[in-house]
Amino acid sequence: MNVLSLEHENYRNLKAGEILPAGGINVICGSNAQGKTNLLEALWLFTGAHSFRGAKDSELPAFANTQGERKPARLCLRFFGGGRQQTAEITIRGGRRSLALNGIPQRSCGALAGVFCAVIFSPEHLSLVKDGPMYRRNFLDSAICQLRPAYVKIINQYNRILLQRNALLKDIVRHRELLDTIDIWDERLANFGSQIICERQRYVEKLSPRVREIYSGISTQKETMDLACRCTVEAGGAGQPDVRAALRQSLREHLEEDIRMGSTGCGPHRDDLDLLINGISARAFASQGQQRSAVLALKLAEAEILGELCGEEPVILLDDVLSELDQSRQEYLLNHLVGRQVFITCCSPENTRLLKQGMVFSVEEGRVASDMV
Ligand code: ATP
Ligand code: MG
Repeated sequence: MNVLSLEHENYRNLKAGEILPAGGINVICGSNAQGKTNLLEALWLFTGAHSFRGAKDSELPAFANTQGERKPARLCLRFFGGGRQQTAEITIRGGRRSLALNGIPQRSCGALAGVFCAVIFSPEHLSLVKDGPMYRRNFLDSAICQLRPAYVKIINQYNRILLQRNALLKDIVRHRELLDTIDIWDERLANFGSQIICERQRYVEKLSPRVREIYSGISTQKETMDLACRCTVEAGGAGQPDVRAALRQSLREHLEEDIRMGSTGCGPHRDDLDLLINGISARAFASQGQQRSAVLALKLAEAEILGELCGEEPVILLDDVLSELDQSRQEYLLNHLVGRQVFITCCSPENTRLLKQGMVFSVEEGRVASDMV
């Protein structure tokens, strides 16, 4: 997968223009608040996902001009993917995004899933290590969605049923006779829930050895990183029918407790992924450099899996990754990325010294200029 060009117009603070990146490493350099992350975000939108910064689509077109008019944002990507050159054009008008793929209008930007693949690291992703289990579940789920777009339907179904079961648990307190109806919900919850648990386990099995190897490389073999699924139901190595039975059983056993709490205490919505550095919890003990390294290892391992299963290397977008990494970690990172197309932002032109080949783009007040190294 390779970006050949990106045209941008009325996107955030970026001045209208076009970039023609290198096939290898592209460094996007500039002071704070000049538009570097905006450029990465524009590329990321072509995966069909929402902004990695959690921004709403209505925030993406440039602010209103002096005449008070706010023009739609337009992004046009030419890329090599699926064995051919393709174009995708995204227009964001008000809060609505529309897409044309190879000149043909599409119903939604979801049509880009699996067509253009990228992996993004941004400082927001440090939550993956530092914050609650939701971030780690979301990481696994969105990685699986890129591989298997149908997975999103399973997640949505599960969440819908979970909401309905929780509402019923609250009603049962006042209307005990409703207890008879819980079985139907439990059956369905166990069905979708076990599919999620098994998908995540399969994914973590693929992820673990790669994370171990990449993290060892980043830390110049001085540290180890391991992953462990923490499941609310005992499901180690079991097939989906067994996990489904175990979840069903667990829901039954905890029913009285669930009614008291008014919520469902077991299932994949309560699972976690333990990240261990040198055998101890990264969430509790990792330093800032270790946290960054851990997230990077997860993201680069995600990219490897995506590359192997799709037969094409995803584009790698790294926002502000070099800060807080020492020289040896920075060097590993830049070397490890050779052979892939990478966009990496940094504030200091110093960092481009480590780069032997590629392009440097400087961004100043939304104007992007390019230089060969
Ligand atoms: P840093 O090094 O601090 O991360 P950056 O170069 O990555 O900086 P960006 O996050 O890309 O900076 O943002 C650049 C500027 O874009 C911000 O100052 C912000 O106010 C501005 N901006 C954001 N959204 C819009 C918009 N819709 N219209 C115009 N400007 C915007
Ligand atoms: Mg930034």
